[in-house]
Amino acid sequence: MSKYWSSLVENLKPYVPGEQPKMANLVKLNTNENPFGPSPKVIEAIQKELNDNLRLYPDPESKALKEAIAHYYTDHGIKPKQVFVGNGSDEVLAHIFQGLLKQDKPILFPDITYSFYPVYCSLYQVESETIPLTDSFEIDPADYKRPNGGIIFPNPNAPTGRFMVLQHVVEILEANPDSVVVVDEAYVDFGGETAITLVNDYPNLVVSQTLSKARSLAGLRVGFAVADEELIEALNRVKDSFNSYPLDRLALVGAVAAFEDNQWFEDSCNGVINERERLTEKLEELGFEVLPSKANFVFTRHKEKAGADIAASLREQGIIVRHFDKPRISDFLRITIGTSDQNNSLIKALSEL
Ligand code: PMP
Repeated sequence: MSKYWSSLVENLKPYVPGEQPKMANLVKLNTNENPFGPSPKVIEAIQKELNDNLRLYPDPESKALKEAIAHYYTDHGIKPKQVFVGNGSDEVLAHIFQGLLKQDKPILFPDITYSFYPVYCSLYQVESETIPLTDSFEIDPADYKRPNGGIIFPNPNAPTGRFMVLQHVVEILEANPDSVVVVDEAYVDFGGETAITLVNDYPNLVVSQTLSKARSLAGLRVGFAVADEELIEALNRVKDSFNSYPLDRLALVGAVAAFEDNQWFEDSCNGVINERERLTEKLEELGFEVLPSKANFVFTRHKEKAGADIAASLREQGIIVRHFDKPRISDFLRITIGTSDQNNSLIKALSEL
């Protein structure tokens, strides 16, 4: 007789993160981390906190961080009460799926997008409908004018890297005044434009961001959302029904310090953008088609060679890129922008294929 927990396990289909292999000299271009590392001020702040305060619980409201984020966006009139923080933007998104999207109609998201969305739908029993991208792998706002229980998409989209102009985001917001529209801006700082500028005009908009990419703190696990106060209050209530202390003391002081070193942040983004443009040119010279990217990765396919074969051959040489075995994109590779040296190793290996 089968045990009931076997079927519980069978029915849970979790998100599968990119692998984190531990080999020396690996060129790791598979999980969109930032190769330039965090600001030294972040390390300093964490070291100080480590020495002083680990005995104590952290601030359950993460007040200092909400203030730092609101201050960063002060030109757009953002107040600390409009900021929600969580343990990585994955956790922020989990709270959004639990608290803001569950309605009597399916939520909408693109069919090629961040693969955590269907996982949350399944876990929180949120019905969904996926909308195909256009032939050029773009999100068409006209496709999001149908009854729904909420809308979510990354901008830039992942794994395509394609950015949707804010005017199109506005079109979606205006067509759906009674639905929550979530713009997942994990990659926005690499040349996109944030929809946080629209938050005070559209009470149905939630923008989520992360410190994992542009601020190079994937290991610290800090993400946040900015929205109308009422939606943020709903997220706070979900959080307090789940874990009152999502951000530990080290994450809190590190994240605050990251928002105090904007020079480091800007230099890091510019470094990634310059390398992305250089890599794109080289890939095109080598016979690859590269989708226009505003992220810290490129989505690319070779005109003749299969994506899976290229990924396998790179791997043999210690270079790891991401290949998705999914319809329509199985020929593509998603390649994180590395340092100049890492990108040069990649280019060399690809030119010898
Ligand atoms: N959204 C998108 C589109 C992503 O690609 C990622 C990174 N995997 C995340 C959110 C989550 O990032 P984090 O939890 O590190 O903030």
